[in-house]
Amino acid sequence: MNYDAFFKASLDKLRTSGDYRVFANLERHNGNFPHATARAEHAQKVTIWCSNDYLGMGQNPTVLNAMHDAIDACGAGAGGTRNISGTTQYHVQLEEELADLHGKPAALLFTSGYLSNWAALGTLAARIPDCLVLSDALNHASMIEGIRHSKAERQIWKHNDLADLEAKLAQQPLDRPKLIAFESVYSMDGDIAPIAEICDLAEKYNAMTYLDEVHAVGLYGPRGGGIAEQEGLMHRVTVIEGTLGKAFGVVGGYVAASAELCDFLRSFASGFIFTTALPPAVVAGATASVRHLKASQKERQAHAERVAEVRARFDALGIPHVENPGHIIPVIVGDAMKCKFISDILMKDYGIYIQPINYPTVPRGTERLRITPSPVHSPADIDALVAALSDLWTQCELARKPMAAQ
Ligand SMILES: *Cc1c(COP(=O)(O)O)cnc(C)c1O
Repeated sequence: MNYDAFFKASLDKLRTSGDYRVFANLERHNGNFPHATARAEHAQKVTIWCSNDYLGMGQNPTVLNAMHDAIDACGAGAGGTRNISGTTQYHVQLEEELADLHGKPAALLFTSGYLSNWAALGTLAARIPDCLVLSDALNHASMIEGIRHSKAERQIWKHNDLADLEAKLAQQPLDRPKLIAFESVYSMDGDIAPIAEICDLAEKYNAMTYLDEVHAVGLYGPRGGGIAEQEGLMHRVTVIEGTLGKAFGVVGGYVAASAELCDFLRSFASGFIFTTALPPAVVAGATASVRHLKASQKERQAHAERVAEVRARFDALGIPHVENPGHIIPVIVGDAMKCKFISDILMKDYGIYIQPINYPTVPRGTERLRITPSPVHSPADIDALVAALSDLWTQCELARKPMAAQ
């Protein structure tokens, strides 16, 4: 076999369908994010409108100082897995901080949110005898891969559809172990799961619940504990999973749950055991960020205001966006080529960076721009975004919504 010819042919297919991924090479300006320099043939100043650093915590001075201090105190890396010389006081403290954030007895750190889902779901579903996993149809790739890796039986229920979930649960013997895996805020549509009702079903049918709050931690709830905190449901969810890489602005993932469950994962999850622990400085930064957002409402308030403002401005111009109760503004283009074209022009002519979201991240025909306003976007940034999209909507002859529902 000519291996490289095979790779190239596969990539050419992606290029033809418009699904080939091109990375923007960005240099974020510390203290001035969402502004950055994009490095292509020429350096170009851009405003980022698609970051998951939702609150700008990646440049928060408290976070950065904690990271500097930890580097000065301990150096660069952890130097080992958690088991073999890689556990520091920073790791222990962050796990306590996260357990407290979610009102759980314990928490366990992973090197990313992806890994926490993959390892936790993979280990639970593989090791609980005859476990049936009930997985929401729009679950993130990391959950899907973990569930597949477990080789446990899985059934996929229609997205956020309680009747479908209940129908599947009702078919099973009550005493069969079951794990319902779902997210709170879904990252591509921004809609939110009916957590209370899912917990009701879990109780009725004797199931565990596994909730990915990656797009909610730091952002929702009085202390940034996520949607489950906001709705007073944290105690009803078996496992809450989160990331330190999005609203918390650093990197890493975790689960919060009972002491027994966390110890079980600590002891059996390969993806936890056999990898070098996060660097102390990263952990110190994440701890500072979590602590800050437990106490401060300022970032969450400003975030909600910016999101509402961008939505209102889009509405005024008829730029169609998916309504949802959360903070993610999906603007559906519905065509991979057009989506990429708009994204390219935004960058080239307007200095606005919004990565096109194409298949397989979202279904074909729903290709979109996924816009994430943050407290660090200024009124001028918003003006520029709205004007640019309005121009492009005209130029590309894309449909507008009626200006107001009369
Ligand atoms: C980003 C994401 C993850 C993975 O988290 P990382 O910390 O980026 O690895 C998990 N679940 C969902 C829903 C995500 O969007």
